[in-house]
Amino acid sequence: MDLPPPINLPYGKDYHLFMSFCKEDEERAFLLFKELEEKYNLKCLYHIRDFTPGVTVTDNILNGIEKSMKIVYLVSQKFKENFMCKTEMLYGIMASHKLCENSMIPVLLENIEMPRELQTINYVDATLEGIDVSEKIYKACLFGASTTSILPNVITFQELFNGTPLRVLKMVVKWKRCIPVACFEEDLEMRMDISDEDRSRKIDDMCNALLDDLNSSKFITNYKLNSTKFLCRAWCIFLLGLTSLAVLPLLLYLIIEGDISEQALNGWSSSLVIVPIITVSCGYCGFWIRQVTLGSKSLERIIWKYLLNNYETLKVLPLLKTTPEDERKQIVILNYDTEECEKFCKFVLKNTLVDENEIQRTAKELIRKFIFENREKLAMWNDLEEYKYNRHNTFMQKKCICQYLEPTLYSRKTENV
Ligand SMILES: [Zn+2]
Repeated sequence: MDLPPPINLPYGKDYHLFMSFCKEDEERAFLLFKELEEKYNLKCLYHIRDFTPGVTVTDNILNGIEKSMKIVYLVSQKFKENFMCKTEMLYGIMASHKLCENSMIPVLLENIEMPRELQTINYVDATLEGIDVSEKIYKACLFGASTTSILPNVITFQELFNGTPLRVLKMVVKWKRCIPVACFEEDLEMRMDISDEDRSRKIDDMCNALLDDLNSSKFITNYKLNSTKFLCRAWCIFLLGLTSLAVLPLLLYLIIEGDISEQALNGWSSSLVIVPIITVSCGYCGFWIRQVTLGSKSLERIIWKYLLNNYETLKVLPLLKTTPEDERKQIVILNYDTEECEKFCKFVLKNTLVDENEIQRTAKELIRKFIFENREKLAMWNDLEEYKYNRHNTFMQKKCICQYLEPTLYSRKTENV
């Protein structure tokens, strides 16, 4: 078999891979390391062979990680319990911070939970059948060496997940003299702390402006016409009223005339009561449906405007949600950094497009279109698909926007080629 093309070592690096594993997994590590060196030409730092004698272990680890392009962690239960392995994970995080890109490649050996430090990174699942671990590692190394060879393996060190609700604006309805009056206000119980004070303040400012706009919208100022409950009640009262109004004069008339036969009653009641009630009810239903859709549309317009203005700068997605139990509207402000997804889209688009501006524009368009078309799904969050590889640190391991866009991105590729 031909050897795959060797990967040039970046400036200042002596090894492709630093291998981190515990004593119990030594045998497995050795086999993997042999394969990586022989089959893929990757230079591995294997501590048993390569550590400098006479230097402390921690110094050896630090130097080794610094001189390696990527760090491979063989994760097992014993690995998680091992103090040295923990140290190596922390050093790996430091190295990633320094490089501003992820340099860690976790390999899951057993069906256990990933250590917290590695949970946000794509990993190689060696527990799956038929998986070629060394090939996966080789491909992960290619990124950085050549820009078209493999998808970026970006790490996001965020305290908050993509999709965490930061603020919730809820609708409060009060009934005054049988007429509902509504307003939006922040649900303080749902408030999420944001450690970046500047961002937190800006988000609050945005929420206040949004609240002002919502509360002066037609939907709120004329809420009674948008409330299904109110319209329903009004219709019932109207129906009863109309019937009695129509029936009373009819009865009076018939009593005076002295002709209360069944036939006369049927004839009169159908023309005076039933026909008008049906006509009026139909008209009323049409009005009702129109009001309710117009009402939510006006809200959606306001919210979409705020989303477009803020999703790139504040990294938040304000989205409209209707609680299923009642008809109450809610606006959730989700934490979402679409920039990482945009980077990913641009990366794949480079395969088909050449012009930088066009790549940028297309990536932005795709993301915006996706958010618009799936705004309800995003607002509900639970309805999103789950995904094993949590690329951009999404809340509850849901599929990231860029993961949803992958098929579109790749089908563009085949179309154009
Ligand atoms: Zn993404």
